Amino acid sequence: MEANILIKQGRIITGQGAFVADIAIRDEQIAAIGTGLPEKETDRVIDADGLFVLPGAVDPHTHIQLDTGIYRTADDWAIGTRVAAAGGVTTVIDFATQFPGQTVQEGVRARHDEIGDKALIDYGLHCMLTDLPASDAELRQWHADLLELGVPASKLYTTYRPNYYQDDDNLLRAFRAAAATGVLTMMHAENDAIVSAETARLVTAGQTGLAFHGTARPALAEAEAVHRLLFLAAAARAPLYVVHSSTAQAVTLIGQARRQGQPAIAESCPQYLFLDESVYAGPHPERAIMQPPLRSRENVAREQALLQQGWINSIGTDHCEYTLAQKTAVDDFTKTPGGIPSLETSLPLLFTFASSGKLPLTRLVQLISTNPARIFGLYPRKGALQPGSDADIVLYDPSGMQMITAGALHGVSGYTPYEGMQVTGRVRMTISRGRIVYDDGAFPTSGGGRFVPGTPVETAALPW
Ligand SMILES: [Zn+2]
Repeated sequence: MEANILIKQGRIITGQGAFVADIAIRDEQIAAIGTGLPEKETDRVIDADGLFVLPGAVDPHTHIQLDTGIYRTADDWAIGTRVAAAGGVTTVIDFATQFPGQTVQEGVRARHDEIGDKALIDYGLHCMLTDLPASDAELRQWHADLLELGVPASKLYTTYRPNYYQDDDNLLRAFRAAAATGVLTMMHAENDAIVSAETARLVTAGQTGLAFHGTARPALAEAEAVHRLLFLAAAARAPLYVVHSSTAQAVTLIGQARRQGQPAIAESCPQYLFLDESVYAGPHPERAIMQPPLRSRENVAREQALLQQGWINSIGTDHCEYTLAQKTAVDDFTKTPGGIPSLETSLPLLFTFASSGKLPLTRLVQLISTNPARIFGLYPRKGALQPGSDADIVLYDPSGMQMITAGALHGVSGYTPYEGMQVTGRVRMTISRGRIVYDDGAFPTSGGGRFVPGTPVETAALPW
């Protein structure tokens, strides 16, 4: 399986710079980068003339084979990681859930068992905490246990009663445990009282069609929760990672805190950068049922500007493959599972944005690869093109325009929220630890992906 590959004359883009060079892969790692590298003892030479060569994307926020207890996505780890490979993603960091009654070890072990040997690319895990122990000492031990398991980040929610919701006291306790151990806390930020009350008003008014999904979850709910989380995390001296920041106001609050020295990280997703709430009034609101919902067109413009100005630190997808049948089973947003497929379209959409002059390609690489790898303790094994790094590489062909359409994608959801959108270029090849896992529409191999343990974040060392 292992081979020596030489990638010749690619336009290499890293988080630090851009240059034309060859990359020599020996077994699973990058052996050398330079010009005129010798072809002898090479099993395969790949001519990358005219192609961009990037470190494989590290998607820090995916939900492959998600079972919430109410809804279950239609994919599994073989399918989900194939979709990732087709999208130029070489590492996904997904979630293990600590279900009520379980320890974190049990939750993480169960997720490893589910994944088995199905993954095509490497993966890391975060741990969703649902049922916190009453004892602070035990909660701190849970966090220490996570680090032992190679899981350096937890995830908590401010909403979704009764399964995931944590009240402010639990949040503060968790932040203190995280600060004491070095775990990074990822937060879903929506004020539960606001979204619950808005939802109840819509239900009373009989306005439960999918078109009302966005109305139920106003932007203010996110901003309020982010504001509060920043306050609580600062009080506990805990680093904070806000997932899927959908509003410019949330991103601004996080960035202002960071500028004052607080270790606060803003993640956004392609859906909040390239889609707006007009989808809900259109013929296909089912394509945008997710939490948080899509926002106003004005907000999208401001979110893009914040991305360009460096206020967003990390891009994840929140990828989640519920099927079109699940999305359209009933025209009721309170009964429709939230989450959209996004792994395969993220890089093309972001490359299109960047290559039109809106974002330096080095910054794109930071956002989709280097920064997530650093934040979750995988760098420079992942997120880098340098000797000694894993040979996780994507070859992107910038020529030509492609139309995104569900039929051409490799997932099982049967739809894409980006249907009909034009993107610049396409992923030509994806290499995972020296194995060609995606080659111009084909998947030459299966399995072989491994768990990559993360180390605790050193937020002081993060370059923004
Ligand atoms: Zn998510």
